[in-house]
Amino acid sequence: SDHSLDYPISPDAINWDVYYPAFQGTGKRPEFADIGCGFGGLLIALAPLFPDTLMLGMEIRVQVSQYVQDRIAALRSAATSSTPAPAIEAPEPDSALSEAASTSTPTASYQNVSIVRANSMKFLPNYFAKSSMSALFFLFPDPHFKSRKHKARIISPTLLAEYAYVMRIGGIVYTITDVKDLHEWMRVHLAAFPLFEYVDEEKLREEGKGPILDAVYKSTEEGKKVERNKGDKWLACFRRIEDPEA
Ligand code: SAM
Repeated sequence: SDHSLDYPISPDAINWDVYYPAFQGTGKRPEFADIGCGFGGLLIALAPLFPDTLMLGMEIRVQVSQYVQDRIAALRSAATSSTPAPAIEAPEPDSALSEAASTSTPTASYQNVSIVRANSMKFLPNYFAKSSMSALFFLFPDPHFKSRKHKARIISPTLLAEYAYVMRIGGIVYTITDVKDLHEWMRVHLAAFPLFEYVDEEKLREEGKGPILDAVYKSTEEGKKVERNKGDKWLACFRRIEDPEA
């Protein structure tokens, strides 16, 4: 139960320096949210790709959110304690060497990722200001198979209004699941909502979002489990558009 959880009264009431100490004084706020982040695989994968973008995982389970917090703390301290690799100029003629240099992982600090234990089906706007988010991730959410439990699903008409509220125009909602029925549900509800427009994978890749999509497919613990079990993965992405009525 989440009755014991304290919620911030507004995004301004949150001391973001606690979550992102290295960004103190920058005025930056989270732009990516991983809703029901589980063990945090997506955040860890995206952190080095967008070092200047703040990302927040939300997870309702106590032990799981604590695990993610510990995992991020460990990655941060490993990054600060290790001596930075010396900058080596890639010698131009040697393609093998320059290729190795360009594919080596840049030293990630993981300062840009953090986690809250929260029920994201409640009070999401208490964490994120209007039009502040450029990406929301719903990766392998709990399916809640039975019809009487459908209202517990993380995508629903009421919640979509909240997601639209916190997203900026052009922001992307990423959903993926191995449950075909849930995929249809999320796709149909998002498509019916006037502030979201379906965008196909190819288009997103053309726009340079390939690395995000690869992480959506492969980086989470649930995504890896589905892969091991050779299950299907159904992706559906939507763009936050201007209010057509406005
Ligand atoms: N996204 C992760 C992945 O792909 O590995 C986790 C998927 S897991 C099947 C669903 C997660 O959502 C669980 O960790 C669960 O505790 C969390 N969750 C379910 N309802 C939630 C809610 N209302 N708020 C926050 N987290 C929630």
